Amino acid sequence: MEVWEKSLSWIQGKLNSQVYEAWFSPVELDEFAGERLALRVPNKFFKEWLSNNYVDLIQEAVWTETGVKPQVKFVVSEDSAVDLANLKTSPPTVSARPQAATGSSITWGEVKLNRKYTFKNFVVGSSNQLPHAASLAVTDMIGTKYNPLFVYGGVGLGKTHLVHAIGNEIRKKRPELRICYISSEQFMNEFVWALRNDKMDLFHRHFRRETDVLLMDDIQFIAGKDRTQDEFFHTFNALHSQNKQIVLTSDKYPQEIPDLEERLRSRFQWGLIADIQPPEFETRLAIVKKKADDEGILLPDEVAFFLAKSIKSNVRELEGSLINLAAHASLDGRRVVDIDFARETLKKVIAISSAPLTVESVQETVCKHFNISLVDLKSPKRQRSIAFPRQVAMYLCRKGLNASFPELGQRFGGKDHTTVLAACRKIEKQIIQDVDTRSRIEALERLLGF
Ligand code: ADP
Ligand code: MG
Repeated sequence: MEVWEKSLSWIQGKLNSQVYEAWFSPVELDEFAGERLALRVPNKFFKEWLSNNYVDLIQEAVWTETGVKPQVKFVVSEDSAVDLANLKTSPPTVSARPQAATGSSITWGEVKLNRKYTFKNFVVGSSNQLPHAASLAVTDMIGTKYNPLFVYGGVGLGKTHLVHAIGNEIRKKRPELRICYISSEQFMNEFVWALRNDKMDLFHRHFRRETDVLLMDDIQFIAGKDRTQDEFFHTFNALHSQNKQIVLTSDKYPQEIPDLEERLRSRFQWGLIADIQPPEFETRLAIVKKKADDEGILLPDEVAFFLAKSIKSNVRELEGSLINLAAHASLDGRRVVDIDFARETLKKVIAISSAPLTVESVQETVCKHFNISLVDLKSPKRQRSIAFPRQVAMYLCRKGLNASFPELGQRFGGKDHTTVLAACRKIEKQIIQDVDTRSRIEALERLLGF
C-alpha cells in the first residue's frame, strides 16, 4: 500500500542505512484500517525490538503521511518463521513499553510500569554501581533517604530501566502506594490538555495529592518550557513537602540543562545526584550473556565476547546487535549464533565502532553526549551549555589525535589557536579539580576507544 511505502521511505530518511536495513527491510504491511496498522515481521525478535524501540517513529511516519497516528501492531509471519520452539522459550515477561502506548491524552492514575525492567535483570558494574545502589535504597526508604534521586547519563545506559525497577520494586514492597511513572514530555502534554479542557483541578489532584511516588523520566525535556517548569516546580514542592518520593532522570547534569529555572536546578540537587557511565567490558559481557539467556538465544562465549568487545557505545546498541543477530540467525534457520555468522552480520556496525579516530568522530561523539548540534559546537556561541562541550571536544582532539592548535582552531569553525590552547588548559585543570568533569571525560574517552 502506498501509505506504508511512503512511510517507509520517511523512516529510511531518519535512520542510518545499516539500522534501516537491519530492522525495516523485512517488514511488510499486513493491514492498515482506520487507526490500526498491522505490520508483518519475520520472527519474535523483530517484533520485540521494533515494538520496544520504533513504535514512535512508525507512528510519526504514518502521521506525517496521513495525519493519522495509528496504533501499531506487529504480526509474526508464520510461514517464514523458523521453528523457534527449538530454542529455549523466553519467559512471558514481554510487555509493551510505556512509550509505545497510544490513545487518549488522559492517563492519570494508570500505572504504566514496564514489568520487564527490574533490579533482578539489571546488571551491576562499576559504571552504574552508585545509581543502582541509590535506586535500591529509595525503595526501602521511600521519600526519606534520597529525595529527589536524580539519575543522569547518556542515552541507552539504563536510566529508564532503573526508574521502572524502582517502581516495580515499590509496587511489590508497598502495594498500597500510588506510583506515577511519566516522562516530562507526557507531563507537559497532560498539563496542556488539562489547561485546554479546564481540568486543572483534576491535574493538581492527581499529581500533587494522589501520587506517593513520582518517577519522572527525561526531565531535560522541560528545558525552555516555562509554563511546564512552573507547574512542575509546584508539583515538586507539594510532593516533597509531604515526603513523597521523587525520582528524576536526565541525559544531562542539572547544571548543564539549558534554560532551566534556577529554583528547579537547585531542587534537583537537594537529594542525591547519581550518574551512569558507559559500561566497561566486563559489564558489557555480563549484559550480553544475561540478555541472551533471557531471550532464549543460544550464544557461544566466543560470540558474547566478540559483541562485548566490539560494541562500546551503549547498552541499547549492544542489546540491539544481539537481538538483530538472533533475528537474522533464525531467518537463516540457525539455532546457534556462531562467530563467523556474527562477524559477517555485524561487519558494518563493528566497522563503525572501531573506525579510526578523527576530528569529526570526536566532534560527533561529543555532540551526541551533550545533546547539542554540530553547528552549535563549531559556532562562536559562548553559553556554558555549548562552550563547555566545545572545550571538551577540543581537549579530546588534542589528546587523542595530537592535532596542532591552529589546525583544531580551523576545524572548530575558524577559531584562533589561542582559543584552542585556552580550552585545553582549562579542561586539563578541571579534570584535576572537578570529579564530574573527570568522569565525563573518562566516559567519552572510553566511548572513543582511547
Ligand atoms: P536510557 O533510559 O538511559 O536511555 P534504557 O533504560 O532505555 O536507557 O536502557 C536501554 C536498554 O539497555 C534497555 O533495554 C535496558 O534494559 C538495557 N540496559 C541498560 N543498562 C542495563 C544493565 N545494567 N543491565 C541490563 N540491561 C541494561
Ligand atoms: Mg530513557
